[in-house]
Amino acid sequence: MNRKIWVTYGAQKLREAGIDNPDGEAWYLFSHSFSLSREDYLFSMTAPVEDGEELERYKALLERRVTERIPLQYLTGTQDFMGYTFRVTPDVLIPRQDTECVIEAVVQGGYSHESILDVCTGSGCIAISLCLMLEPKICVGTDIDEKALEIAKENGRRLAPMVKFKKSDLFSGVEGSYDLIISNPPYIPTKDCMELMPEVKDHEPMLALDGKEDGLYFYRKLVREAPDYLNAGGTLVFEIGYDQGPAVKTMMEEAGFSSVKIKKDLAGLDRMVIGTLTEG
Ligand code: GLN
Repeated sequence: MNRKIWVTYGAQKLREAGIDNPDGEAWYLFSHSFSLSREDYLFSMTAPVEDGEELERYKALLERRVTERIPLQYLTGTQDFMGYTFRVTPDVLIPRQDTECVIEAVVQGGYSHESILDVCTGSGCIAISLCLMLEPKICVGTDIDEKALEIAKENGRRLAPMVKFKKSDLFSGVEGSYDLIISNPPYIPTKDCMELMPEVKDHEPMLALDGKEDGLYFYRKLVREAPDYLNAGGTLVFEIGYDQGPAVKTMMEEAGFSSVKIKKDLAGLDRMVIGTLTEG
């Protein structure tokens, strides 16, 4: 069988298992197993596939995708985000397209950004992308989880070595104050965590998802403490769940933030809340 037929075979297996985007995923798993770029594959679709290690790897990955529901990104070890390729393992949340909308809004917002702090950095995708796009003088990412920090540091070394990563329980280990603080904290109410799709529920770190009782636990803590770590006139940016906008906006207004705005993602759902710490 040639390469194209093996990809079609994989897509069929994934489709039967009810996996979204079976054609794309089969191609990713095939090209990962055979170390092929998209161009390599497109110009060699009719090349015969020999029995061997690569084919065995491909079959094994398909099997694990179907039976264990391991997300594609943990199988290939990578996820593209804002055009950069991030390494991901089950110790970090897989960077989401929704979060790319947050990055876009921050980059286009014209907020002051000489110093940027990303709290709950996970893979480091937010801190690293903002560092590369906005070129701040200081850029720090924090996370409570040491295994996640290892991945963030690895991504930082490869993509943006000036980003500093630091272990910190929210702001506990943060020093100094920043122009822009951003966070995509865990925000799913505990009772909803068990309803998530198997790829998420069984494989992504619960620590990165579970926002405790009503999902707002981390926003409450972060909003209360953020003014101590923000420069006057600085900006606080949160990614939020689709139904959390009004609650987070109110929290921020009560804590002294002004011009607090809820913004939407590409699907038209509320996705972020952005506010300015009133000067003086
Ligand atoms: N900041 C990371 C991301 O947006 C991780 C977020 C998290 O672990 N809650 O992907």
